[in-house]
Amino acid sequence: MANSFPLDNTVENFAVFGNPVKHSRSPSIHNLFAKQFAIQLHYDAIDVQPEQFEKTVKAFAVAGGKGLNITVPHKELAFKLCDILTPLAKTCHSVNTIWFDDELNIYGDTTDGEGLVRDLQNNHEIKLVNKRILILGAGGTVPPVLLSLLQQKPESITIVNRTLAKAEVLVERYKGYGTLMACGYDQLEQQYFEIIINATSASLQGDVPPLSADIVRHSECCYDLMYSKEATPFLKWADNNGSSLCIDGLGMLVEQAACGFNIWHGKMPETSSVISAIKANNSL
Ligand code: NDP
Repeated sequence: MANSFPLDNTVENFAVFGNPVKHSRSPSIHNLFAKQFAIQLHYDAIDVQPEQFEKTVKAFAVAGGKGLNITVPHKELAFKLCDILTPLAKTCHSVNTIWFDDELNIYGDTTDGEGLVRDLQNNHEIKLVNKRILILGAGGTVPPVLLSLLQQKPESITIVNRTLAKAEVLVERYKGYGTLMACGYDQLEQQYFEIIINATSASLQGDVPPLSADIVRHSECCYDLMYSKEATPFLKWADNNGSSLCIDGLGMLVEQAACGFNIWHGKMPETSSVISAIKANNSL
Protein backbone atom coordinates (compact mmCIF):
# COMPACT_ATOMS: atom_id res chain seq x y z
CA MET A 1 0.00 0.00 0.00
CA ALA A 2 2.74 2.43 0.99
CA ASN A 3 4.25 2.16 -2.48
CA SER A 4 1.10 3.39 -4.19
CA PHE A 5 2.29 6.98 -3.63
CA PRO A 6 5.35 8.34 -5.31
CA LEU A 7 6.08 10.54 -2.28
CA ASP A 8 9.18 12.68 -2.33
CA ASN A 9 10.69 11.82 1.05
CA THR A 10 13.15 14.75 0.97
CA VAL A 11 10.23 17.15 1.61
CA GLU A 12 6.84 17.08 3.35
CA ASN A 13 4.05 15.69 1.17
CA PHE A 14 0.48 16.97 0.87
CA ALA A 15 -2.38 16.33 -1.57
CA VAL A 16 -5.97 17.07 -2.43
CA PHE A 17 -8.25 14.03 -2.84
CA GLY A 18 -11.33 14.46 -5.03
CA ASN A 19 -13.23 12.93 -7.92
CA PRO A 20 -12.79 14.58 -10.37
CA VAL A 21 -9.74 16.58 -9.29
CA LYS A 22 -7.72 17.15 -12.46
CA HIS A 23 -8.45 20.87 -12.68
CA SER A 24 -7.92 21.57 -8.97
CA ARG A 25 -6.10 24.81 -8.21
CA SER A 26 -5.07 23.59 -4.75
CA PRO A 27 -1.54 22.49 -5.82
CA SER A 28 -0.82 25.96 -7.28
CA ILE A 29 -2.29 27.71 -4.25
CA HIS A 30 -0.30 25.67 -1.71
CA ASN A 31 2.92 26.07 -3.71
CA LEU A 32 2.44 29.85 -3.74
CA PHE A 33 1.78 29.84 0.03
CA ALA A 34 4.88 27.69 0.65
CA LYS A 35 7.05 30.15 -1.30
CA GLN A 36 6.06 32.92 1.12
CA PHE A 37 7.78 31.03 3.96
CA ALA A 38 10.51 29.28 1.91
CA ILE A 39 8.91 25.94 2.87
CA GLN A 40 9.84 23.04 0.61
CA LEU A 41 6.86 20.75 -0.01
CA HIS A 42 5.28 18.50 -2.59
CA TYR A 43 1.53 18.85 -3.23
CA ASP A 44 -0.40 16.50 -5.56
CA ALA A 45 -3.98 16.37 -6.87
CA ILE A 46 -5.09 12.74 -6.63
CA ASP A 47 -8.28 11.34 -8.16
CA VAL A 48 -9.84 8.91 -5.68
CA GLN A 49 -13.05 6.90 -6.19
CA PRO A 50 -15.38 6.95 -3.15
CA GLU A 51 -14.95 3.19 -2.57
CA GLN A 52 -11.16 3.66 -2.45
CA PHE A 53 -11.25 6.72 -0.19
CA GLU A 54 -10.54 5.14 3.22
CA LYS A 55 -7.83 2.83 1.89
CA THR A 56 -6.15 5.68 -0.01
CA VAL A 57 -6.12 8.10 2.95
CA LYS A 58 -4.55 5.43 5.16
CA ALA A 59 -2.00 4.50 2.49
CA PHE A 60 -1.03 8.19 2.14
CA ALA A 61 -0.45 8.39 5.91
CA VAL A 62 1.56 5.14 5.99
CA ALA A 63 3.72 6.42 3.11
CA GLY A 64 4.64 9.45 5.22
CA GLY A 65 2.15 12.00 3.84
CA LYS A 66 1.56 14.95 6.19
CA GLY A 67 -1.83 16.36 5.21
CA LEU A 68 -4.76 16.20 2.82
CA ASN A 69 -7.34 18.55 1.46
CA ILE A 70 -10.63 16.84 0.73
CA THR A 71 -12.96 18.00 -1.99
CA VAL A 72 -16.16 16.85 -3.75
CA PRO A 73 -17.52 14.21 -3.20
CA HIS A 74 -15.53 13.00 -0.18
CA LYS A 75 -16.12 15.52 2.63
CA GLU A 76 -18.70 13.40 4.45
CA LEU A 77 -16.63 10.22 4.01
CA ALA A 78 -13.69 12.13 5.49
CA PHE A 79 -15.86 13.17 8.44
CA LYS A 80 -16.74 9.51 9.08
CA LEU A 81 -13.13 8.34 8.73
CA CYS A 82 -11.41 10.78 11.10
CA ASP A 83 -10.41 9.53 14.56
CA ILE A 84 -10.30 13.04 16.03
CA LEU A 85 -12.50 15.91 14.83
CA THR A 86 -12.48 19.58 15.75
CA PRO A 87 -15.77 20.67 17.39
CA LEU A 88 -16.69 22.55 14.20
CA ALA A 89 -16.12 19.53 11.93
CA LYS A 90 -18.13 17.39 14.35
CA THR A 91 -21.04 19.84 14.28
CA CYS A 92 -20.94 20.21 10.48
CA HIS A 93 -20.47 16.51 9.57
CA SER A 94 -17.90 17.72 7.05
CA VAL A 95 -14.09 17.60 6.78
CA ASN A 96 -11.97 19.35 4.14
CA THR A 97 -8.59 19.28 5.92
CA ILE A 98 -6.86 16.17 7.30
CA TRP A 99 -3.59 15.62 9.12
CA PHE A 100 -1.96 12.75 11.00
CA ASP A 101 0.03 12.17 14.18
CA ASP A 102 2.95 9.77 14.72
CA GLU A 103 0.53 6.92 15.56
CA LEU A 104 -1.24 7.62 12.25
CA ASN A 105 -4.41 8.85 13.95
CA ILE A 106 -6.44 10.86 11.46
CA TYR A 107 -7.47 14.42 12.45
CA GLY A 108 -10.12 16.45 10.61
CA ASP A 109 -11.33 20.03 10.43
CA THR A 110 -13.43 22.09 8.03
CA THR A 111 -12.24 25.48 6.80
CA ASP A 112 -14.87 26.11 4.08
CA GLY A 113 -17.03 28.39 6.23
CA GLU A 114 -14.09 30.41 7.52
CA GLY A 115 -12.86 30.68 3.92
CA LEU A 116 -16.13 32.25 2.80
CA VAL A 117 -16.33 34.65 5.75
CA ARG A 118 -12.69 35.75 5.28
CA ASP A 119 -13.32 36.37 1.58
CA LEU A 120 -16.49 38.41 2.20
CA GLN A 121 -15.09 40.43 5.11
CA ASN A 122 -11.38 40.81 4.35
CA ASN A 123 -11.28 40.84 0.55
CA HIS A 124 -14.61 42.55 -0.18
CA GLU A 125 -15.21 44.52 3.03
CA ILE A 126 -18.73 43.16 3.39
CA LYS A 127 -20.11 43.42 6.91
CA LEU A 128 -22.27 40.50 8.03
CA VAL A 129 -23.51 41.73 11.40
CA ASN A 130 -27.29 42.39 11.41
CA LYS A 131 -27.59 41.42 7.73
CA ARG A 132 -30.38 39.34 6.23
CA ILE A 133 -28.70 36.51 4.36
CA LEU A 134 -30.23 34.11 1.82
CA ILE A 135 -28.44 30.83 1.12
CA LEU A 136 -29.49 28.94 -2.02
CA GLY A 137 -28.99 25.18 -1.64
CA ALA A 138 -28.83 22.74 1.26
CA GLY A 139 -25.98 20.42 0.24
CA GLY A 140 -22.82 19.32 2.00
CA THR A 141 -21.11 22.73 1.95
CA VAL A 142 -23.98 24.55 3.63
CA PRO A 143 -23.41 23.44 7.29
CA PRO A 144 -19.85 24.88 7.59
CA VAL A 145 -20.88 27.99 5.66
CA LEU A 146 -23.97 28.43 7.81
CA LEU A 147 -22.13 28.09 11.13
CA SER A 148 -19.33 30.47 10.16
CA LEU A 149 -21.84 33.05 8.91
CA LEU A 150 -23.90 32.72 12.12
CA GLN A 151 -20.77 33.44 14.19
CA GLN A 152 -20.78 36.91 12.59
CA LYS A 153 -24.24 37.62 14.10
CA PRO A 154 -26.36 38.33 11.02
CA GLU A 155 -30.00 39.29 11.66
CA SER A 156 -31.18 36.04 10.05
CA ILE A 157 -30.29 33.36 7.53
CA THR A 158 -32.89 31.84 5.22
CA ILE A 159 -32.08 28.59 3.42
CA VAL A 160 -33.99 28.03 0.20
CA ASN A 161 -33.71 24.68 -1.55
CA ARG A 162 -35.30 22.83 -4.48
CA THR A 163 -35.89 19.94 -2.06
CA LEU A 164 -37.43 21.85 0.84
CA ALA A 165 -37.12 18.94 3.30
CA LYS A 166 -33.29 19.20 3.16
CA ALA A 167 -33.38 22.88 4.10
CA GLU A 168 -35.79 22.08 6.94
CA VAL A 169 -33.45 19.41 8.30
CA LEU A 170 -30.60 21.96 8.42
CA VAL A 171 -32.77 24.52 10.19
CA GLU A 172 -33.86 21.93 12.76
CA ARG A 173 -30.25 20.84 13.34
CA TYR A 174 -28.69 24.33 13.63
CA LYS A 175 -31.54 26.51 14.96
CA GLY A 176 -29.79 26.84 18.33
CA TYR A 177 -26.95 28.83 16.67
CA GLY A 178 -29.00 31.79 15.41
CA THR A 179 -32.15 32.90 13.58
CA LEU A 180 -32.68 30.39 10.79
CA MET A 181 -35.53 29.76 8.36
CA ALA A 182 -36.21 27.31 5.54
CA CYS A 183 -38.37 27.86 2.49
CA GLY A 184 -39.01 26.84 -1.10
CA TYR A 185 -38.22 29.11 -4.06
CA ASP A 186 -41.96 29.85 -4.47
CA GLN A 187 -42.10 31.29 -0.93
CA LEU A 188 -39.58 34.09 -1.50
CA GLU A 189 -41.98 36.69 -2.87
CA GLN A 190 -41.83 40.03 -1.04
CA GLN A 191 -38.75 38.92 0.92
CA TYR A 192 -35.51 40.89 0.61
CA PHE A 193 -31.96 40.02 1.61
CA GLU A 194 -28.78 42.06 1.67
CA ILE A 195 -26.57 39.09 0.85
CA ILE A 196 -27.48 36.22 -1.48
CA ILE A 197 -25.12 33.23 -1.50
CA ASN A 198 -25.48 30.59 -4.19
CA ALA A 199 -24.38 27.32 -2.58
CA THR A 200 -26.12 25.15 -5.18
CA SER A 201 -24.26 23.21 -7.82
CA ALA A 202 -26.66 24.62 -10.46
CA SER A 203 -23.89 26.65 -12.13
CA LEU A 204 -22.07 23.38 -12.86
CA GLN A 205 -24.97 22.40 -15.15
CA GLY A 206 -25.26 25.91 -16.61
CA ASP A 207 -28.48 26.45 -14.59
CA VAL A 208 -29.62 29.33 -12.41
CA PRO A 209 -31.85 28.72 -9.35
CA PRO A 210 -35.40 30.07 -9.91
CA LEU A 211 -35.15 33.45 -8.13
CA SER A 212 -37.03 36.58 -9.11
CA ALA A 213 -35.03 39.45 -10.59
CA ASP A 214 -36.61 41.67 -7.94
CA ILE A 215 -34.82 39.92 -5.09
CA VAL A 216 -31.44 40.51 -6.72
CA ARG A 217 -32.08 44.21 -7.37
CA HIS A 218 -32.66 44.78 -3.66
CA SER A 219 -29.50 42.95 -2.56
CA GLU A 220 -26.09 44.38 -1.65
CA CYS A 221 -24.12 41.41 -2.96
CA CYS A 222 -24.58 38.14 -4.87
CA TYR A 223 -21.93 35.50 -4.17
CA ASP A 224 -21.51 32.19 -6.06
CA LEU A 225 -19.46 29.54 -4.26
CA MET A 226 -18.59 28.24 -7.70
CA TYR A 227 -15.86 29.92 -9.76
CA SER A 228 -14.79 29.68 -13.39
CA LYS A 229 -12.79 31.61 -15.99
CA GLU A 230 -15.99 33.30 -17.19
CA ALA A 231 -18.64 34.69 -14.84
CA THR A 232 -20.74 31.77 -13.56
CA PRO A 233 -24.31 31.45 -14.94
CA PHE A 234 -25.70 32.69 -11.59
CA LEU A 235 -23.45 35.75 -11.49
CA LYS A 236 -24.15 36.56 -15.17
CA TRP A 237 -27.86 36.38 -14.39
CA ALA A 238 -27.48 38.47 -11.22
CA ASP A 239 -25.44 41.10 -13.07
CA ASN A 240 -27.99 41.26 -15.90
CA ASN A 241 -30.72 41.80 -13.33
CA GLY A 242 -29.10 44.74 -11.56
CA SER A 243 -27.04 43.18 -8.75
CA SER A 244 -24.69 45.85 -7.41
CA LEU A 245 -21.86 43.43 -6.55
CA CYS A 246 -21.14 39.94 -7.94
CA ILE A 247 -18.39 37.76 -6.43
CA ASP A 248 -17.34 34.23 -7.33
CA GLY A 249 -15.88 31.57 -5.01
CA LEU A 250 -12.22 31.78 -6.04
CA GLY A 251 -11.41 33.96 -3.03
CA MET A 252 -13.17 31.47 -0.76
CA LEU A 253 -11.11 28.65 -2.28
CA VAL A 254 -7.86 30.50 -1.55
CA GLU A 255 -8.98 31.54 1.95
CA GLN A 256 -10.07 28.03 2.98
CA ALA A 257 -6.72 26.77 1.67
CA ALA A 258 -4.90 29.41 3.76
CA CYS A 259 -6.71 28.20 6.90
CA GLY A 260 -5.70 24.61 6.04
CA PHE A 261 -2.08 25.71 5.44
CA ASN A 262 -2.11 27.34 8.88
CA ILE A 263 -3.33 24.07 10.47
CA TRP A 264 -0.49 22.11 8.83
CA HIS A 265 2.37 24.58 9.10
CA GLY A 266 1.36 26.95 11.91
CA LYS A 267 1.74 29.92 9.54
CA MET A 268 -1.05 32.02 8.03
CA PRO A 269 -0.17 32.97 4.45
CA GLU A 270 -0.96 36.27 2.77
CA THR A 271 -3.81 35.60 0.33
CA SER A 272 -4.52 38.63 -1.87
CA SER A 273 -1.40 38.15 -4.03
CA VAL A 274 -2.31 34.46 -4.41
CA ILE A 275 -5.88 35.27 -5.49
CA SER A 276 -4.50 37.73 -8.05
CA ALA A 277 -1.94 35.22 -9.34
CA ILE A 278 -4.54 32.46 -9.75
CA LYS A 279 -6.94 34.87 -11.48
CA ALA A 280 -4.23 36.19 -13.78
CA ASN A 281 -3.04 32.76 -14.84
CA ASN A 282 -5.78 30.18 -15.10
CA SER A 283 -3.22 27.53 -16.02
CA LEU A 284 -1.25 28.00 -12.76
P1 NDP B 1 -24.07 19.22 -3.04
O1 NDP B 1 -24.07 18.32 -4.23
O2 NDP B 1 -23.93 18.63 -1.70
O3 NDP B 1 -25.47 20.04 -3.04
C1 NDP B 1 -25.95 20.61 -4.21
C2 NDP B 1 -27.10 21.57 -3.89
O4 NDP B 1 -27.45 22.26 -5.12
C3 NDP B 1 -28.38 20.89 -3.41
O5 NDP B 1 -28.99 21.71 -2.44
C4 NDP B 1 -29.24 20.83 -4.70
O6 NDP B 1 -30.62 20.84 -4.45
C5 NDP B 1 -28.85 22.13 -5.36
N1 NDP B 1 -29.04 22.13 -6.82
C6 NDP B 1 -28.40 21.39 -7.74
N2 NDP B 1 -28.80 21.71 -8.98
C7 NDP B 1 -29.74 22.69 -8.84
C8 NDP B 1 -30.54 23.42 -9.75
N3 NDP B 1 -30.44 23.22 -11.08
N4 NDP B 1 -31.38 24.36 -9.27
C9 NDP B 1 -31.48 24.58 -7.92
N5 NDP B 1 -30.74 23.89 -7.00
C10 NDP B 1 -29.90 22.96 -7.46
O7 NDP B 1 -22.98 20.34 -3.34
P2 NDP B 1 -21.97 21.06 -2.31
O8 NDP B 1 -22.76 21.64 -1.19
O9 NDP B 1 -20.85 20.17 -2.00
O10 NDP B 1 -21.36 22.24 -3.23
C11 NDP B 1 -22.18 23.31 -3.68
C12 NDP B 1 -21.35 24.26 -4.55
O11 NDP B 1 -20.34 24.88 -3.78
C13 NDP B 1 -20.64 23.57 -5.72
O12 NDP B 1 -20.80 24.39 -6.86
C14 NDP B 1 -19.19 23.54 -5.28
O13 NDP B 1 -18.31 23.57 -6.39
C15 NDP B 1 -19.10 24.84 -4.48
N6 NDP B 1 -18.02 24.87 -3.47
C16 NDP B 1 -17.07 25.86 -3.56
C17 NDP B 1 -16.05 25.96 -2.63
C18 NDP B 1 -15.03 27.05 -2.75
O14 NDP B 1 -14.00 26.99 -2.04
N7 NDP B 1 -15.26 28.07 -3.57
C19 NDP B 1 -15.93 25.01 -1.51
C20 NDP B 1 -16.98 24.02 -1.50
C21 NDP B 1 -17.97 23.96 -2.45
P3 NDP B 1 -31.44 19.49 -4.07
O15 NDP B 1 -31.15 19.25 -2.61
O16 NDP B 1 -32.84 19.83 -4.34
O17 NDP B 1 -30.90 18.40 -4.96
